[in-house]
Amino acid sequence: DTFVQAKLPDNVIECCKSFTKPSPIQAHAWPFLFDGRDFIGIAETGSGKTLAFGIPALMHILKKKENENSNKVVPRCLALSPTRELAQQISDVVSEAGKPCGVKTVCLYGGTSKGPQISALKSGVDVVIGTPGRLRDLIEMGFCNLKDVSFVILDEADRMLDMGFEPEVRSILSQTCNVRQMVMFSATWPFSVHQLAQEFMDPNPIKV
Ligand code: AMP
Repeated sequence: DTFVQAKLPDNVIECCKSFTKPSPIQAHAWPFLFDGRDFIGIAETGSGKTLAFGIPALMHILKKKENENSNKVVPRCLALSPTRELAQQISDVVSEAGKPCGVKTVCLYGGTSKGPQISALKSGVDVVIGTPGRLRDLIEMGFCNLKDVSFVILDEADRMLDMGFEPEVRSILSQTCNVRQMVMFSATWPFSVHQLAQEFMDPNPIKV
């Protein structure tokens, strides 16, 4: 129930210094996510869900780098979101949180030119946040390789499927590392979302 209990490095928790304690979704999700479990959260925007998955994503990246004893900057974490606005919100939070620990982020969405997004990918990123259509385009063009992505977040999964992104989502997920940790947030739990979880997540994810 406190940030101290979470035993996180100062540079990872820096972004929380103005908060008094973890939000309920953070307090629920963190122990499982730090433990490498898959996690499904039925939570709305405003609950603090971005840092509920953002902080574990940072920890995941830092641990991988430490284990590999390398500072190789490749996408290791992916967050998919249905809209540009949401992708940008996630990106703002994660890039701010990642700054003190040297974690680099890019946000990829459609309706704007690809040039700056391609430059950012070329310069090296640890986290890719994006909408499914643009991300798939950039993968197909060879600018984004997800084979080292071992932490995946699907945000507003129900909305993403409602918007018809299921083929893109499936194609993207199948290109990530097959040993991966997954987090899914959804406001509702229709059969299509359930099915996606069954196919791509651990058989026994934590559901909150
Ligand atoms: P989100 O649900 O991720 O969009 O977050 C909603 C708002 O809650 C954002 O303005 C966050 O900065 C804020 N927030 C995130 N975590 C906490 C926390 N532990 N305590 C208070 N506010 C928080």
